[in-house]
Amino acid sequence: MDNIKFVTDRDPGEREFHQAVTEVIESVKPVLDQNPLYRTESIMERIVEPERVILFRVPWVDDQKNVCVNRGFRIEMNSAIGPYKGGLRFHPSVNLSILKFLAFEQVFKNALTSLPMGGGKGGSDFDPKGKSDMEVMRFCQSFMAELFRHIGPNTDVPAGDIGVGAREIGYLFGMYKRLANEFTGVLTGKSLNWGGSLIRPEATGYGSVYFAAEMLATRNETLEGKRCLVSGSGNVAQFTMEKLLDLGATPISFSDSSGYIYDEAGLNREKLDHIMYLKNVQRGRVAEYVESYPDAVYTPLDQSLDHNPLWKEHKADCAFPSATQNEINGLDAQHLIDNGIYVVTEGANMPTVHAGVQIFLENKILYGPGKASNAGGVSVSGLEMSQNSMRLNWPKEEVDNRLKHIMKSIHSMCMETAEQYGEPGNYVVGANIAGFVKVVDAMIDQGVV
Ligand code: NDP
Repeated sequence: MDNIKFVTDRDPGEREFHQAVTEVIESVKPVLDQNPLYRTESIMERIVEPERVILFRVPWVDDQKNVCVNRGFRIEMNSAIGPYKGGLRFHPSVNLSILKFLAFEQVFKNALTSLPMGGGKGGSDFDPKGKSDMEVMRFCQSFMAELFRHIGPNTDVPAGDIGVGAREIGYLFGMYKRLANEFTGVLTGKSLNWGGSLIRPEATGYGSVYFAAEMLATRNETLEGKRCLVSGSGNVAQFTMEKLLDLGATPISFSDSSGYIYDEAGLNREKLDHIMYLKNVQRGRVAEYVESYPDAVYTPLDQSLDHNPLWKEHKADCAFPSATQNEINGLDAQHLIDNGIYVVTEGANMPTVHAGVQIFLENKILYGPGKASNAGGVSVSGLEMSQNSMRLNWPKEEVDNRLKHIMKSIHSMCMETAEQYGEPGNYVVGANIAGFVKVVDAMIDQGVV
């Protein structure tokens, strides 16, 4: 199988999944040509098929005593190099296509970390926004009442993603512990005082900035003084902005699904603390930021536009898309280039559509695709699993140093692989091939299973 038709015929309508598979197929073609065994072993046919898909009903009762029903999913995509590992997403847009794309990406991302983790993803179309803590708890308990029989510290270890933060992980873990009658590292992203790892909340954002710094170093540059557009205002965006500030760069924007803030003067520590309080404690909207900082400008999202003004209206050096998939279309990508942006580091998973990726590659900017640049989160999740197994807690500096080391090694692996395949500077090819080869070689070693 060398083309996407096999997948589109079999799984029509799974648009995001087709998009993720297309990108990998395009990158790994030279590897398939060089290794006939991969074709005789039907590696592509096997790797696009999840090992297991679990789909279940999640009934729960809201505060008004209405019985509500959501859909729960877990995609156990590939366990060739370790237990399934990947986040849970709670968002009304969640469907099979989105979770299959995320699980597919996760397989290669986890391979790049060099830690022993297979790939998975899961979640629900439940929307935690506007729900009370008790509603979120009842939902999480019902979700886990089914999921618990499919996961375990050596089988499948979920974590957070969009809509699943420390609060949700707490409720999910509490229910798992009660049902399984064991205290194990079955989820990562736990709170510190009951098995979590230092630096886990920060890891995806910090890792993405470390990756950008590595890319800049190839041009003898640093992040110092760079103006950076950031999208999103959740976990990844917040800690991306924190690390940018630490390294002397200036974040000038952030967003949510209703609109975005542009702060010409740039963020500082005090403004970031305010955003964190607004989002994490008050669970508010980014629009409220201008009440405290009236010089900043809020632009509501306009669905009728064919582009996002966040990527069009502002000159900058770097962009860190850290909200969600497909938030940069072809036009947006061109606008970024026109505005002088020459570093794009994806904190989100697949935030750039295929046409946008091509524009970045044609313009030879420093473009870090999500499966490489946002691997810091799952890397520290892997380190959380190690600490749980050893019943030890590493100090902050140790985890951060390991994270830096992993991001550095992912960067060099991508760079060297891209060079080896005649595409110097193409981190997309580098990440896809390096992750792919590691997983498929393990699959072949383990026979047809
Ligand atoms: P959060 O839920 O903490 O934050 C998500 C942010 O993105 C919010 O600001 C949210 O706005 C915004 N957002 C969500 N959906 C949309 C949408 N359809 N349009 C515009 N904005 C949207 O999630 P995370 O920060 O954890 O995740 C962000 C991205 O990073 C995702 O792509 C995720 O898969 C990826 N990622 C996360 C990792 C992690 O460790 N958490 C690891 C690797 C990747 P609103 O509040 O309005 O919903």
